[in-house]
Amino acid sequence: MNAAAATHQHTNCLRCGRTLRNPSPDGYGPKCRTKVRKAPVDLADYKAHQVASARELIEDGAIIPLRSVVFIAVSTDGTETYKTAPTACSCPAGVKGSRCYHQLAARMLLAA
Ligand SMILES: [Zn+2]
Ligand SMILES: [Zn+2]
Repeated sequence: MNAAAATHQHTNCLRCGRTLRNPSPDGYGPKCRTKVRKAPVDLADYKAHQVASARELIEDGAIIPLRSVVFIAVSTDGTETYKTAPTACSCPAGVKGSRCYHQLAARMLLAA
């Protein structure tokens, strides 16, 4: 877990907005967490390490909904944040037009 996520206290579920009754490291209630993990996303375009990084980002609570399809993603070292959507991202890879794992995480969350 990265430092930025560890210090972030979630009081409401990031997906449905309901009050979290138990501490939640990723910011999801139990039902929403299950849905996010089983999100039907086509992973064929992504490498295994990108899929793992996207899942880790979600499980660290390091990708937070901003508005409609836009999310804020925290960089691995916790020092920067990126604006991420399913097909665009403001991270160094994303601005070059590469498919980054932030975009994948956004797709997973939207498909959940
Ligand atoms: Zn929820
Ligand atoms: Zn990115």
